[in-house]
Amino acid sequence: MFYSATLLVVFGLINDFVTCAEWSYSSPYGPSNWTTMHGNAACGLRAQSPIDIPDATNAQYDEMLVPFVVMGFEKKTNVLKLVNNGHTAQLNIIGDLKVSGGGLSGTYNTAQLHFHWGSSSNKGSEHLRNRTRYPLEMHIVNYNSKYDSLTNAAPKPDGLAVLGFWFKVVAEDNKMFAKLVNNLTKIQNADDEVDVTDVLVSDLIIPKLDKYYRYKGSLTTPPCYESVTWTMFEETIPISENQLRLFRNLKEKKPNHKIVNNFRPVQQLNGRRVSRSFKLETDGANTICSSSIVTVLLVYLLHLL
Ligand SMILES: [Zn+2]
Repeated sequence: MFYSATLLVVFGLINDFVTCAEWSYSSPYGPSNWTTMHGNAACGLRAQSPIDIPDATNAQYDEMLVPFVVMGFEKKTNVLKLVNNGHTAQLNIIGDLKVSGGGLSGTYNTAQLHFHWGSSSNKGSEHLRNRTRYPLEMHIVNYNSKYDSLTNAAPKPDGLAVLGFWFKVVAEDNKMFAKLVNNLTKIQNADDEVDVTDVLVSDLIIPKLDKYYRYKGSLTTPPCYESVTWTMFEETIPISENQLRLFRNLKEKKPNHKIVNNFRPVQQLNGRRVSRSFKLETDGANTICSSSIVTVLLVYLLHLL
């Protein structure tokens, strides 16, 4: 009796430990176990992120996907706080930054941006493109302005719009990113943070936000809410190996562990559609082809008359 009661208590303690433990990217609390951890049931649903974005020819052109409009990204007065939260380097944004257009309904407020990277440059991105991995991916997280905060918007189906950017390795440092990545040396340990005053968010993105892929998905970290309208931009951002090294030197909360490979494995599409905002030559060829058929028919009909 005593023995079984002790077993029950021990089992209860283990269970509490498992459900209360913080998620990570490696076992025993890695992606394959997220659903079993308290509050993360959504991680097992069918519209999860990231995914393998198909080749442009296998994505469907959607004329509703107009260019994005960003507001306040170039302001020097924005308050930016760079934080090592143990999972990533995150730039918290306090200011009047907004995103609209891009086939979104209404305006979304910009809350933060953060990164996912690999231990080496043959991996790191969360989204793949036609099975290709990139060394770094940046996510700009925006919440629907009809909700009063990121926290309240996050579980709502139309709550979030994340703008994602792939990076490619080049020989030269990306000067636009120099100020931000040099600040990474000041947040080496988990929970470190530093105020960043000389970074413009507009310097961190590509100039033309018109060519992108779109699908409906989820947060890529627990609690994995399926509330994200995802955008992945076609144009990559350059970054050097020296700059990537500064990301790879950041430390997790776990002693002596560096933050690397902080990406979730790709999830099944499960019938979801991936659209694109830009036309391909093959799209144009269909139009020419169909207009040629109309011309031939007209000529034939006129001939009959
Ligand atoms: Zn992310």
